Amino acid sequence: MFERAQKLYESGKVQKISETPHGYEATVQGSSPYHVSLSRKHIDHGYCDCYMGQNDELCKHMLALGLAVLHLSGKTKETKEESPDNPDAVKQLVAAGMRKIKPYNGPSKIWFSYQRELDVGSGMIEAAIKNLSANKENAKYLWSLVLKLSKKLANGGVDDSDGTVGGCIISLVVQCGKYAKEKPELKAMVMKFAEDDTGFGFEDELKEHLNNGDITQKSSPTPPLINEQQ
Ligand SMILES: [Zn+2]
Repeated sequence: MFERAQKLYESGKVQKISETPHGYEATVQGSSPYHVSLSRKHIDHGYCDCYMGQNDELCKHMLALGLAVLHLSGKTKETKEESPDNPDAVKQLVAAGMRKIKPYNGPSKIWFSYQRELDVGSGMIEAAIKNLSANKENAKYLWSLVLKLSKKLANGGVDDSDGTVGGCIISLVVQCGKYAKEKPELKAMVMKFAEDDTGFGFEDELKEHLNNGDITQKSSPTPPLINEQQ
């Protein structure tokens, strides 16, 4: 979520920032323009009229406004986001993300916070694996994650109706595909991965990446709809 907020801020989507008696407000341009406000004093007080904000959940728009205010007031330095580069740290972060991708057991009033957990968990996994270099070990590791996550979707009771976990799996698949392009010696192995049946066609996605000249992530992967408990 932080990375998404950072993207919003960096791409100038936080607009019309103003100070109010209580804190700050702005229009944040998401899928539509959202009105966002933050308290100056209380870290957990804020509002956004997006879906999540209306349900009293912290959203990326509020975080983006927080970032914008920090930058404007000179309270932050530009930091390069750090992705771990040693395999143990990567695995630890992935494991922590995996633990957040849990079955949904209701009640429906916790659905939003449940979705947020999925979002955070998927984000952790995506951030963790980003800098893993192309080699045999890492390719095997990424594909094992694809299979593990698919299993969670298939019979782990995960309610991925927002498609967050599906999107995370696609990133893993894309990275496997990239490995095969970068290191031709890995291609045969990665092609072998594509023979597995993930149950959701992720193997076809991989084949597509292997066959296509250049790898472009689909703008909107169609995620599997599981467990329609809503
Ligand atoms: Zn929002």
